[in-house]
Amino acid sequence: MSDSFNAVMSLYMKSSTRNALMLCGVVVPIVATVVYFKTVPFKWIGNGRGNFVHAPIDQPADDSLISLIAVGDMMLGTNYPSADLLPANGQNILDPLKDILRNADLTFGNLEGTVLNSGGDVKACSDPSKCYAFRQPEYVVDHLKDAGFDMVSVANNHMGDFGEPGRTNTQKVLKAKGIKYAGLETCPWDTIHVKGLVIGLTAFAPNSGCLKLNEYERAKKIITELDAISDIVLVSFHGGAEGRSRTNVTRKTEEFVGENRGNVYEFAHMAIDAGADMVLGHGPHVTRAIDCYKGKFITYSMGNFATYARFSLSGVSGIAPVYKLYFKRNGDFVRGEIVSIQQLGEGGPTIDPNKQVLAEIRRLCKMDFPEIPWDITDDGKFELKK
Ligand SMILES: [Zn+2]
Repeated sequence: MSDSFNAVMSLYMKSSTRNALMLCGVVVPIVATVVYFKTVPFKWIGNGRGNFVHAPIDQPADDSLISLIAVGDMMLGTNYPSADLLPANGQNILDPLKDILRNADLTFGNLEGTVLNSGGDVKACSDPSKCYAFRQPEYVVDHLKDAGFDMVSVANNHMGDFGEPGRTNTQKVLKAKGIKYAGLETCPWDTIHVKGLVIGLTAFAPNSGCLKLNEYERAKKIITELDAISDIVLVSFHGGAEGRSRTNVTRKTEEFVGENRGNVYEFAHMAIDAGADMVLGHGPHVTRAIDCYKGKFITYSMGNFATYARFSLSGVSGIAPVYKLYFKRNGDFVRGEIVSIQQLGEGGPTIDPNKQVLAEIRRLCKMDFPEIPWDITDDGKFELKK
């Protein structure tokens, strides 16, 4: 307070009155403000635009959300029919994406093939040189672990390529290396603990040995039971027809090489009605659109993420998203980010500077899900329009 102000005040009031006014007008508000912010449960949170705001903690601050990285098909190299089909020198083709893949509470992908060093009962192939039977050496599980994978789906059309020895060894190695897995009759689901929550994972495919995509009553029962012991339920599926002309979600039953590959739209919605909080699809080996139903996120196909040597990678077969998904502790979707990758040469993901898959996802969302008000920005961030 300035001397001149004090001088003026002293003309009109006694010093005790002045002191009382000082106390009420200056000291009390300062003390009250400090006490308020110390006792009321507020915290500083980022507002997503580079600023910080002071918000009550019952508002969802970023660290109260769960983050999940999800990718599609992974086959990191096969030693069948020849070890020439492995990356040179035991190289980990996930290395270029490691920092991105590790940067979430949980990281998930589809393991498209068995884990077996040698042997197994190889499926019947008329021409072994063209036989797409995937036998990944055991060290690929170290590569997955090193890249941050916490859990994988083992329900797909290549998990049976080396019969029961292949399936059994895949589970044994994943278990030994500490990666959770689900989707076979012998391992229908598993759970993992994150930020005080139990996250359940189950996975479906139309293929032998897998939890069946087309048996809805059984699928519902598994999802409902998993929901009863989990806070959040993740449902993965490997379904839908394959190939560059099969990027659309038809909302009908799809056939591929004489096989019923399911009605993935109907399946995903059924799964959410039964208690799923997120549906993570793959199988067409191309990227498909995203959907949101009852506040829960669905991706119908995440494409070829890391598929070495035995896959066609031209056009839309060689681009894929890495999804980083944020959801509330009740499983409701909040927002996501798409990192666009491409696979060049023999394969292995690298960042796509042209973000081709981002453009593809926007195109497919407009075409297949015009009723879902997605707001997908040029930098790959997306949420539902408010
Ligand atoms: Zn497949």
